[in-house]
Amino acid sequence: MKKHIIGNWKMNGMQSHLTEIQKIDEIAALFDNIMTGLCVPATLIYSAHKDKKAVIIGAQDCHQSKEGAHTGCLSAAMVKEAGAKMVILGHSERRQDQGENSRLVSQKADAAIDNNITPIICVGESLAQRESGQAEKIVSEQLLASLPSNKPQKMIIAYEPIWAIGTGKIPQMEEVREIHEVIFRLLTQKYGDAANDYPILYGGSMNGENASELLKLAHVDGGLVGGASLTADKFAPILKAASQNS
Ligand code: PEP
Repeated sequence: MKKHIIGNWKMNGMQSHLTEIQKIDEIAALFDNIMTGLCVPATLIYSAHKDKKAVIIGAQDCHQSKEGAHTGCLSAAMVKEAGAKMVILGHSERRQDQGENSRLVSQKADAAIDNNITPIICVGESLAQRESGQAEKIVSEQLLASLPSNKPQKMIIAYEPIWAIGTGKIPQMEEVREIHEVIFRLLTQKYGDAANDYPILYGGSMNGENASELLKLAHVDGGLVGGASLTADKFAPILKAASQNS
């Protein structure tokens, strides 16, 4: 499987930042043995995806319903029409800020799949859960409850320990390896050989310095990258590390 490196721009990015996306696209074209993606704010999806050659554009959320009275929300069909090929679902910031639970994430994953968009399902434990030895249990429960109703053709899982997001801290390599193995095992139990087709990404303070070591671990098929995806200068070393470890 190709390594997948997907940027999450969160609530960052104006039209003036399209030049940065253009630069990232040019760099991504140099590393054609990996998949490079950028999940941008909804306002940038259309312009970001137009004319791009290498980078795949995604959204950061979609509603679980097809359409209707949901002021301020966007359906999967809408983000797809704008140009999104994938969508981040259940990011810990949405689980915290918008109170999203795993059941809702699963419904959103169904909506994404119905519209041929790849769901990127995020799971991860808090620091208190990690310190009390519950990381594996929490991630397993979240994962199983967040999966779509049926076996998907395409799906990406992102393991993102909440305490590693935006903090500059990352788990021990062995801790990352353990959780990725657990995720792979659960996916294999549920989907059989198809589990080999679902990339499992690590997310949380990945950068040009730690990417290579993380990407060498078994079942770490790529990264979901926040801060270090905002500029081509910081993103490029991660793409290079992924390409070298593919
Ligand atoms: C994220 O929010 O998905 C993320 C991994 O952020 P950062 O890389 O900034 O920790």
